[in-house]
Amino acid sequence: MTVSNVYPTAPLRALDAAHHLHPFSDMKSLNAEGSRVIVRAKGCWLEDSDGNRILDGMAGLWCVNVGHGRPEIAEAVAAQMGELSYYNTFFKTTHPPVIKLAGMLADLAPPAFNHVFFTGSGSESNDTVMRMVRTYWQTLEKPEKTVIIARKNAYHGSTMAGASLGGMAPMHKQGGLPIPGIHHIAQPYWFDEGGDLSPAEFGLKAAQELEAAIDEIGEDKVAAFIAEPVQGAGGVIIPPETYWPEIARICKEREILLVADEVICGFGRLGKWFGSEHFGIEPDLMPIAKGLSSGYLPIGGVMVADRIADVLVNATGDFNHGFTYSGHPVACAAAIANLTILRDEKIVERVADDIGPYLQKKWAALAGHPLVGEARMIGLMGALELVPSSPARRRFAGDAGRAGTICRDFSFRNGLVMRAVRDSMIISPPLVITHAEADELVRLTEKTLDDTHAEL
Ligand code: PLP
Repeated sequence: MTVSNVYPTAPLRALDAAHHLHPFSDMKSLNAEGSRVIVRAKGCWLEDSDGNRILDGMAGLWCVNVGHGRPEIAEAVAAQMGELSYYNTFFKTTHPPVIKLAGMLADLAPPAFNHVFFTGSGSESNDTVMRMVRTYWQTLEKPEKTVIIARKNAYHGSTMAGASLGGMAPMHKQGGLPIPGIHHIAQPYWFDEGGDLSPAEFGLKAAQELEAAIDEIGEDKVAAFIAEPVQGAGGVIIPPETYWPEIARICKEREILLVADEVICGFGRLGKWFGSEHFGIEPDLMPIAKGLSSGYLPIGGVMVADRIADVLVNATGDFNHGFTYSGHPVACAAAIANLTILRDEKIVERVADDIGPYLQKKWAALAGHPLVGEARMIGLMGALELVPSSPARRRFAGDAGRAGTICRDFSFRNGLVMRAVRDSMIISPPLVITHAEADELVRLTEKTLDDTHAEL
């Protein structure tokens, strides 16, 4: 990437602070400090308005799987704009890009998944899930099965339903959440909550909370359980091996639909097309977004297993749900071009067999740093648990030691974007990251840890 014209940072920041209400941002500090202005990106590298090059360790927001600035996607989008820039998919209408994308997804997904409902985002996908699972049970004449069990500290989006399904306490505090009909159980977070149990024992215990919740609420009232294969925004919480098989057993035996939120884990992040394939689970529904278009245009969806689709398709009357941009032709064109790159360049296989194991090994070595209590990574998503003295599983006391000492929310320190979640530092780079860039990512992470250690 050539560093080209430098932007006038101060006036841009002032204009931004004056008029732009940012998502998930402390607006007061934004007024005082201003935002970082990103002006262009290529591959794994961002450039800001001062001409700094920054390694994008978060793939944007866990989404730019094929890397930034792929001309094939830009060209596909431009061509589709010229052909059919918009038409809807309501009321039995359709168009070639949405048909082609639905077919491609059916080919790429596990064999039981041959249907997809399109949305504009991951949040809309999870709103759709809520309505679909309840409609499913209504159609089967079990309308009292409405409750959805989700997990504390999960992230399922920012709409009223998405944020309610999610288990983020700071989100629930704003705007009267959660909405009724949602029940949260524990997360399989061994590092923080495992106590004296081994990871395997703790994984089983966390999964069995689902069964206890079903008993408490009543099987005849529970519609579904929703979870991310690996919790992302909650802190890259990789469940112990015992967790998912037990969850799958419970859902099957207790007649509860299993929803795997694949918004982050889908499209290669764990080295399989879908994260649930990594854990060998067969969900009933899979909300998708992010890596579907690598974030080039907003698009999401819900992949529906045939056994569920058969019921929904044969329900009487319309499914009264959809979005103006469901199956937007230009977003579909971006997604088709993106999936073609992922498939033809064997990027998913590369995460499983090459760059994933390569970065995981280097990442694991960071556990030797005095500030790191655990260094974990699966596929290409990882976390460092920060502690006052390694290798103890003990937290810093109070707020003083929070990862906020390294950064607030997003860290751009030393030219590397990482994310802070409580006392952990998160990484989720583009899947096309090279070996040399992976080395650089680890070097910059280590430097940030060293700098922080020296300042504590
Ligand atoms: N589900 C998961 C697992 C996510 O990580 C996210 C976003 O980070 C969402 C849903 C919501 O997606 P969106 O921000 O596109 O609405």
